[in-house]
Amino acid sequence: MERLLAVRFLRGSGLLRRHFPTCLRSWKVPPHVLKSSQALLPSAPLQTFTEDEVMMKSMVKKFAQEQIAPLVSTMDENAKMEKSVIQGLFQQGLMGIEVDAKYGGTGASFFSSILVTEELAKVDASVALMCDLQNTVFNKLIMKHGTEEQKATYLPKLTTEDIGSFCLSEAGAGSDSFALKTRADKKGNYYVINGSKMWISNAGYAKLFVVFANVDFTASYKGITCFLVDRDTEGFHVGKSENKMGIRASSTCPLTFENVKVPEANILGKVGHGYKYAIGILNEGRIGIAAQMLGLAQGCFDHTIPYIKEREQFGKRIFDFQGVQHQVALVATQLEAARLLTYNAARLVEHGRPFIKEAAMAKYYASEIAGLTTSKCIEWMGGVGYIKDYPVEKYFRDAKIGSIYEGASNIQLNTIAKHIHAEY
Ligand SMILES: Cc1cc2nc3c(=O)[nH]c(=O)nc-3n(C[C@H](O)[C@H](O)[C@H](O)COP(=O)(O)OP(=O)(O)OC[C@H]3O[C@@H](n4cnc5c(N)ncnc54)[C@H](O)[C@@H]3O)c2cc1C
Repeated sequence: MERLLAVRFLRGSGLLRRHFPTCLRSWKVPPHVLKSSQALLPSAPLQTFTEDEVMMKSMVKKFAQEQIAPLVSTMDENAKMEKSVIQGLFQQGLMGIEVDAKYGGTGASFFSSILVTEELAKVDASVALMCDLQNTVFNKLIMKHGTEEQKATYLPKLTTEDIGSFCLSEAGAGSDSFALKTRADKKGNYYVINGSKMWISNAGYAKLFVVFANVDFTASYKGITCFLVDRDTEGFHVGKSENKMGIRASSTCPLTFENVKVPEANILGKVGHGYKYAIGILNEGRIGIAAQMLGLAQGCFDHTIPYIKEREQFGKRIFDFQGVQHQVALVATQLEAARLLTYNAARLVEHGRPFIKEAAMAKYYASEIAGLTTSKCIEWMGGVGYIKDYPVEKYFRDAKIGSIYEGASNIQLNTIAKHIHAEY
């Protein structure tokens, strides 16, 4: 019931006004909000949101502060996501943001899922990652390439209770992911998968896995095919979660496949098209990682500034030293630039316009800025910034992953350079 209400909350302001007067009272709708029915004007500032987007942002902010924030430190310490947080994500309708209502989804926009990731990451980057991967990668793959039967089977569960994992990387295939060695051999009307995967996010909590395996190595990467594999399939094993520096509550596991039989009907999309699907989905997914980095950097900044406006040394507040103010101003400017790159890339996707270069720029830049912001915040806070009783050091540890996964920073720069080469 709680979930139903939350989903309705996200589905339209008319409905919302009738059912949620108490939430509405607390809103101060900023002047740059457009009614949902109004299309975004081409000349509108990038930080112009529809009413639905404002609602979503506000609802997620409340959820994150009330239900996630009190658990962040424990989840980091124990390297484990609390069940209540996962249930909360589903109940709030945040695990099927773009999924059509007929499959139990929220039916909102890509931009909304970016705002949700940003808002969650302000409080906890691990929770943001879980939600982001489900929305911008896993559900999206099924929505784009699944048959009607696959959509009807999986999407209603993915929006309400099941987590999905995206399994591409292997020990010898990280940046060069199409060098993957996991194979799928056809035997009658099923395939037999053998091989292993590394660093698979959400694997500890997931029920469904999209596995990239090669059905024909003679065709090189054009043999790569996507398979839907249930956690309970015989021969499939999820290994122990890695002990990580940051995003510790996110489970990151190795997987092994020993003669895993998968029916032909579990192929997602076309045989041999897996590489295209992986490239396509990661291009979009990168904007989600940009939003995660942006959110965590902003969250860290928001914790730090009030502290340095209070803390005094040499008879002055730390914030009042001009040497500090200039650094704060620089970081704030870079944060704003990262936000604009991220929002612009997301709007380009939403409007069906070319976005690959812009998405790479957003992911690269937001990751760099997250590292810089969180490092500076620790410096500005001094000793307390460095100890675990305060939240800042965790943001710093969480930030590093941005320059590694969903395409390391150099890989983003390669993409940007390739586009520039083609443009001139
Ligand atoms: C916490 C975590 C979660 C992850 N989640 C997932 C997941 O859910 N699913 C999944 O499939 N994978 C996942 N990954 C894997 C991740 O995508 C890879 O780690 C990433 O692609 C980098 O690959 P690699 O680690 O093998 O590094 P390498 O490819 O070995 O790269 C090492 C360094 O070399 C640089 N480099 C590589 N090639 C080039 C080049 N051509 N030009 C210049 N520099 C280059 C890279 O930029 C990097 O700095 C995850 C990883 C981590 C750590």
